[in-house]
Amino acid sequence: MRWSHSFHPTLRDDPADAEAVSHKLLVRAGFMRQLMAGVYSLLPLGHRTVQKIANISRDEMNKIGAQECLLPSLHPREVWEKTGRWDAIGPEMFRFKDRRDSDVLLGMTAEEIFAHTAGELRSYKQLPQIWYQIQTKFRDEARPKSGLMRTREFIMKDSYSFDIDEAGLDHAFQLHFDAYRRIFKRLGLDTIAVEASSGSMGGSQSVEFMVRAEAGEDWVATCGACGYAANTEKATSMLPPVDDAPGPEAPEKFATPGVRTIADLVDFEGGAPADRQIKTLVYRVDDKTVLILMRGDHALVEQKLVDQVEAALIRPAGDGEIQAAMGASAGSLGAVGVDDLFVIADEALRGRRDMTTGANEDGFHLRGVDIDRDIDVKAWLDLREVRAGEGCPGCEKPLELVKTIEVGHIFKLGTKYSEPLGVTVLDENGKAVPIIMGSYGFGVTRNMAAVAEARHDDKGLKWPINVAPFEVVVSVLNVKDVDTVEAGERIYEALQAAGIDVVIDDRDERPGVKFKDAELIGIPYRVTVGPRGLKEGNVELVRREDGSARDLAVDHAVETIVEAVLHERR
Ligand code: ATP
Ligand code: MG
Repeated sequence: MRWSHSFHPTLRDDPADAEAVSHKLLVRAGFMRQLMAGVYSLLPLGHRTVQKIANISRDEMNKIGAQECLLPSLHPREVWEKTGRWDAIGPEMFRFKDRRDSDVLLGMTAEEIFAHTAGELRSYKQLPQIWYQIQTKFRDEARPKSGLMRTREFIMKDSYSFDIDEAGLDHAFQLHFDAYRRIFKRLGLDTIAVEASSGSMGGSQSVEFMVRAEAGEDWVATCGACGYAANTEKATSMLPPVDDAPGPEAPEKFATPGVRTIADLVDFEGGAPADRQIKTLVYRVDDKTVLILMRGDHALVEQKLVDQVEAALIRPAGDGEIQAAMGASAGSLGAVGVDDLFVIADEALRGRRDMTTGANEDGFHLRGVDIDRDIDVKAWLDLREVRAGEGCPGCEKPLELVKTIEVGHIFKLGTKYSEPLGVTVLDENGKAVPIIMGSYGFGVTRNMAAVAEARHDDKGLKWPINVAPFEVVVSVLNVKDVDTVEAGERIYEALQAAGIDVVIDDRDERPGVKFKDAELIGIPYRVTVGPRGLKEGNVELVRREDGSARDLAVDHAVETIVEAVLHERR
C-alpha cells in the first residue's frame, strides 16, 4: 500500500463532541467518521483493523467446529412475534413497514432467525451443531456513546449452538468460553469473566467478558480473595448483621415538614439515619402498581427487578400515578397499612424493626415500624446494588467495584426460542423434542474501541501486531533522493513478499509529519529510510510500543523486521 495514494485523513485536533479516548483517537487517526448519532463510517484503516478482529473471531470459531453462515439483517415480524420479542422489546428495535405493508425489522441479534433455520434439522444424530455469522446489527440505543462503544449500527460475531440435552449445551458453552478467552488474548485484552443478567435474551446462565476501562459503562463487583466476579446487575454481597431494638408497640406518626428525601430525614431533628429508613418506590409492572421497599441507603437495581418479575414492561410510576395510588407525593410514601398494592421488599430489610418510613400523608412519617408486624410484604427479592467494601458472597472478604466495558456475552438459552418456534428433532426414542440452544455474542467494532482504550499513549494508538491496520510502515524520508527511494522501495517489496502488512510512506512530507502520523495511527514498527543513514549503510527500526530504536544494516533489515513481526503475531 502506498500512502501517497491512500485515504488516511489524520486530524490535529480531537473531535469536539468526543469524551472517550478511543473515540477521539479513532477519529483523529483517520479510522472512522461519524455519519449521524451512533452511526459511523469505517475508513480504510478502520476497516482493516475491524477485519483483523473479525478474522481472529472467525479463526477461533472455526477451531471449535463452528460453521460460518450469513443470515439477513432484515427480518419479518412473524418470527419475532412467535417468541414474544416483537412485543417484549421496546424502541430499541428498528422496525418499519415494507411496500406491501408488512412489518419488518432490522436484527438486533439473531436467535429467532438461527432457530428458524434450525427447523430443518430432523434427528438428534445431526446434533450438535454450532453456526455463526459476522453481521451488522441494529439497535436504536437510547444513548449512543463513546464512539464505537455503543452505536446504533455495529458488527457482531454471533454464534448459536444446537444440542439434544443440557450436557451438550454445557459443552458448547465451555467451548465458547475457552474460544472467547483465546480471542481476547489475541486482541491483547485482559478480560474478567463475570456472572451476568441474561436480560431480554432469557435462559438460565450467562457470562460476560469485561475489560477494565474508565470509559466503560458497566460496574463489576470483584473479590481479590476468592475470584468472585459479577456484574452489579446481578452481584450480591453480605451485610453485617443488625440487631434492632424492638421499638414501640405500634408505629408512631410524627410531623416532618419540608422533608422530601432520605437525606432530609437524616438531618431532620427526630429523624433517622439512612440505614434505619425504609425507602418506598412506586413502579408500574405491566398494568399493575407495585411498591418496592429498599433500605434508605440502598439503591435499587432495576435489572434485578426485571430479571425476577415476569412482565413485559417495568418502569417507575410518574408523579400523577404515585399521587393517585398512594394519596401522597414521593417524599412521604410508605407501605404500612397498604393492602391493595403488591409490596416487594428487598432482602436487606428482612426482620428489621424500629424503622422509619413515610406515612402516606405529605409532611408526615412513621417511626417504630416493624416490617413483619406492620407491612404486608408479598415477595422478598434481592434488588439491592452492591457497594464497594461489602462482604463477598463467596468468602465475606471486602468486594471491589471496577468500571468495565462489556466485550462479549455468552448465554445458555435452553428452549426459549426452539419451543415457540416449534424447532424439534427426534430423540433416540423417536420422540420430537425441542432443540437446546445457546447464543454467543462478540462485538467486533466495540472490541476495536476496547483495544484502543487499553492501548494508547499521548502520541496516539498502540495496536498489538494482530490488529494493527499495518504491521510496518516504511518511512522514506526524502522522496526526491533517488537512492533513498530505491532503498525504501526494495525493503517495501521484500516485506510485502514475506507476507508482512506494510505501507510505504512515499508522501512528499517532512519527516516530522510522517513520524507523527505513524505514531498517531499506531503502526507497531517503523522503518526509517533516509540519506544520512544510508550513507552508513543503515536504516532505523522504531518500535511503537516502547519507542525503542535500533539501526539495521540495509542488507539484513528485512530479515530482522520479518522476524520481529512474526514473533509478535498470535
Ligand atoms: P450492553 O449491556 O453493553 O448494551 P448487551 O448486553 O445489550 O450489551 P449483547 O446483546 O449481549 O449486548 O450483545 C453482544 C455483544 O455485542 C456485546 O457484548 C457487545 O460487545 C456488542 N454490543 C452490544 N450492543 C452494542 C452496541 N450498541 N454497540 C456496539 N456493540 C454492541
Ligand atoms: Mg444493550
